[in-house]
Amino acid sequence: MRAGILLSVLDVRDPSSPRLTPIAGRDPEAVSPVAIVWPCPLPVDAYVAAGRKVEVPRPACPLCGKPLVFWSGYWRHVRAGGLAGGRCPKIFVPRVRCAPCRVSHALLPAFVLAWRLDVAETVGAVIGQVAGGACGVRPAAARAGVPYTTARDWVRRFRARGPELGAGFAALAVELGGEAIRPAAEAGRFALAAVGAAFAAAAGLPGWPGLGAWRFASSVSGGRLIAASTGSPFLVAGKRRFMPPVPSAPP
Ligand SMILES: [Zn+2]
Repeated sequence: MRAGILLSVLDVRDPSSPRLTPIAGRDPEAVSPVAIVWPCPLPVDAYVAAGRKVEVPRPACPLCGKPLVFWSGYWRHVRAGGLAGGRCPKIFVPRVRCAPCRVSHALLPAFVLAWRLDVAETVGAVIGQVAGGACGVRPAAARAGVPYTTARDWVRRFRARGPELGAGFAALAVELGGEAIRPAAEAGRFALAAVGAAFAAAAGLPGWPGLGAWRFASSVSGGRLIAASTGSPFLVAGKRRFMPPVPSAPP
C-alpha cells in the first residue's frame, strides 16, 4: 500500500472546518494519520490542567464531510515558561477518526508546532526578536530560556523559508483586506511583517481574535511554520490557496 500524505489546513474564513490537501498519493485509504491544528484560545496551563477532559471542537471529516468521532488520543510534552507543575508538562492530544474514510487525525492545539517541544509563543518570540532585528540569537534564547542551538535552528529555518512564508502570508493579508507588505531585502524580516499583517487582517474574522499572531500562524500553516521540507505550509482562505505544494506533489 502506497503511503500518502495529507496536509491539513484551516480555512482562515472558517477555521471550524479544516480541509485536507493531498500532497502525495491520492488514495484516501492509504493516507497516513495527520494532524489538524485547531485555533485553541486556552492558555497553555489551562490546557494542561484540563488533562483528558480538555474541550476540543469536533471538526467534520475533511474527506467526506461527516462528523469525526473521538478516538482515544495520546500524551505529549510541551515546554513553556511560567507553568505550574514544571516547564515541560504533558498535554493530552485527542484523536478523531472517520471509519468510512479510514483516516484519523490528531487535534493539536494551536500553541503546538509539529515536532517541536516549545510552544508557538516561545518560538515566535525568539523569531520576532531576531528576524525583526532587535537582538541576536543568544540574548533571545536566554530570555526565552531555551538552548542557543535550538533558538538558532528556529531562526535559520524561518529565514530559509522566509520568501515562501512571506509571499504566502502577504497574499493572505491582502485577500483578507489587510495591509500590502512588500518583500524586504532580508527574507526573515519580510516573512515576519507578512505574518503580522495577515494576523491583523484575520483578527477581524470569527475564531481568530485573542489568539495571537503565532498561534494564528501555527494554525493556518498546519503547525508547519518552521517544519522541514515534509510539506509546505498551505494557506487557504475560502477557495483560494496561497502557497504552492511541495515540488514533488502531484499537480
Ligand atoms: Zn470521512
